Amino acid sequence: MTYRIAVLVHTPAYSQMAGALTYLSDAPLPAGTLVRVPLGQRELLGVVWDAPPQPATAGLLTPIDPDKLRPLAAVLRGLPALNAHWRALIAFAAGYYQRSLGEVALAALPPQLRDLSNVQLARRLKKSALTGATTAPHCADAQSTEGTGNGSQNAPDLVALSAEQASAIRQFHANPGPFLLFGATGSGKTEVFMRCCADLLAASGAAQVLVMVPEINLTPQLEERFTTRFAPDYGVDAVVSLHSGMTPAQRLKSWLAAHSGAARIVLGTRMAVFASIPHLKLIVVDEEHDPSYKSHEGARYSARDLAIYRGRVEGIKVLLGSATPSLESWYHSRTAAEGGRYLRLQMPSRIGANAVLPLVRRVDMNHQPKGCVIAPPLLAAMIERIACGEQCMVFLNRRGYAPVLTCDACDWKSNCPHCSAYRVFHKIDRTLRCHHCGLSTPVPRACPDCGNLDLGSLGRGTERLEEQLALLLSGVTRPDGSALRIARIDADTTRARGALQSQLAQVHAGAVDVLVGTQMIAKGHDFRRITLVAAINPDSALFSSDFRSPERLFSLLMQAAGRAGRDASNSRRSEMWLQTFLPTHPLYEALKNHDYPAFAQAQLVERQLAGMPPFSFQALVRAEARTQQAAQAFLNLASAASAVMPEAAALRAHLTLYPAVPMSMQRVANVERAQMLIESASRTALQRFLSAWQAVLHAQRAQPECKGLLRWAVDVDPLLI
Ligand code: ADP
Ligand code: ZN
Ligand code: ZN
Repeated sequence: MTYRIAVLVHTPAYSQMAGALTYLSDAPLPAGTLVRVPLGQRELLGVVWDAPPQPATAGLLTPIDPDKLRPLAAVLRGLPALNAHWRALIAFAAGYYQRSLGEVALAALPPQLRDLSNVQLARRLKKSALTGATTAPHCADAQSTEGTGNGSQNAPDLVALSAEQASAIRQFHANPGPFLLFGATGSGKTEVFMRCCADLLAASGAAQVLVMVPEINLTPQLEERFTTRFAPDYGVDAVVSLHSGMTPAQRLKSWLAAHSGAARIVLGTRMAVFASIPHLKLIVVDEEHDPSYKSHEGARYSARDLAIYRGRVEGIKVLLGSATPSLESWYHSRTAAEGGRYLRLQMPSRIGANAVLPLVRRVDMNHQPKGCVIAPPLLAAMIERIACGEQCMVFLNRRGYAPVLTCDACDWKSNCPHCSAYRVFHKIDRTLRCHHCGLSTPVPRACPDCGNLDLGSLGRGTERLEEQLALLLSGVTRPDGSALRIARIDADTTRARGALQSQLAQVHAGAVDVLVGTQMIAKGHDFRRITLVAAINPDSALFSSDFRSPERLFSLLMQAAGRAGRDASNSRRSEMWLQTFLPTHPLYEALKNHDYPAFAQAQLVERQLAGMPPFSFQALVRAEARTQQAAQAFLNLASAASAVMPEAAALRAHLTLYPAVPMSMQRVANVERAQMLIESASRTALQRFLSAWQAVLHAQRAQPECKGLLRWAVDVDPLLI
């Protein structure tokens, strides 16, 4: 007997249902089975998909001549099928983010699964099963509730929980969640995450947990803490990582370990939300506010939001954590009486007797010597800290030496010929580099327009700041009389593999007195001996047109402040300095008081008045074309055409479609970019509109006005407007 099987393969098509093809099989295959199928001359990895609910209209099974159907090439035997929860997650993500099922499903699988032969795969599986067998004796029996985590002889001594930690954990166990753990930096959130994981792992023999962090750079630290804690009970192979910095072979290995149940703890970045984890019992999202959880290519998913969805589908707990939650999560965690859907767990105090929050000091730059880089009082404070053997961290959100090279004689500026941006002057190799398209050329010896030899630079990047600090601090020595050391950490100094880790190690070892860098150094890293943190020019974010800009600035500054004074043995209070021309700005007021709730409250009032998220829902369509007219024409035509869609009248009453505008970075690498914002008070209306609108958008490509259109993409719940 021959069966018709629906199979998802990778198709970057925009139609939601596109991607499932029909093949013949001599055995019925359950949905979720991994297969290899022929397509044209190639053989592709595929996932057997659930039969479509309405074959005729949905078009999942492309109506095709039965004689032309081809048989499957192979079934990946030995790999358990991807379960219904995983398939529900994929289907939801594809629908919600307006991408094809095939694209989302196949992107969620490790790339090497596509390339390996059946024989190679069998070998890997055997290896993973072998290690799994020694570390997870109960994984074959999903129903077992017998604990494996209790009573271990080798378990490390656990710290005594603070009252706040104990209370958070009690509430975690007593409620279904989702939870928002709102805890100050250094309040011991990670300890809470580990206890919650430990309790759930111990409660059931096969249980698995997923812990997500925003950045690859943060995974080694976390992996070390989790391995130290859990390896004694579950074996070193029970903790695996999943992130894009791994080799394809490592990724496949971790993925197989998670999928087979051998890995009990899966640590990863946003991509890990799609991992197949059959006995998942908890998802932790650390630093849940971090923009890195949002993907900016392919399906533009939010791993944080998908974690919430996945938790609901699987009927498991989800624990978000942050010292500066996203305003969305903060709003969702208002009291249940006010309509909140998450439970807020609060840990306002830092751990340790002396671990008070740093003193925030604002330097009014209006009253400092004109053009000074580091205000005299800040410089004096730094010198004093260095003299005591303490470390300072200075950050500035712009790398390179100077953002623009200019000619005073004729007003020439170092524009990028391909982008609407300046090329940045990098002194170290004397290049002009465009940070958008990558164009890099040697610095001209003279002005290209008038021949003037005296080119100057405007503004300041981290490279120049480092140089200026060296000048300002020349003559300052360490307590032992040796020379002061300044180090810089930014995207330029950390290009090489392992460079960041070794630079961080130097800071930790105390080899560095002053650390200069971009926001890269403000996030997450635990610098115990840093007692002074300074933000050189934070004001620029206050003038951004993006309504989320203050939220990002506040969170960055709180994070940076959290870097200071984590060493409880230091009795002197650490400080966070802000150089600002707007010292009385409410954002800095709230920061001075370490008062995130006050800041969030003020922002939410503004957002509500303006009808912005979380009080409305947004989608952005971005178009790229050879000309700005074509990009805008495409968007405006699609907008106009939506008026005649069958469901349009009912839906459009709930929507605002704004006119197309150039993106703030209008041209990158000679491609013109435009965007259109769609807003609605109803998420459902927005979703239904977008689904129906896909075909309309697609159809506009053929319009003569759209000649030169290259690509377009829908971004649901965009973070950067
Ligand atoms: P957060 O993630 O909230 O910034 P961490 O979990 O990293 O904070 O905790 C900060 C420091 O305090 C870590 O070194 C951690 O080991 C320590 N710590 C956490 N909980 C306790 C506790 N109950 N007693 C003593 N030290 C603790
Ligand atoms: Zn000139
Ligand atoms: Zn460029």
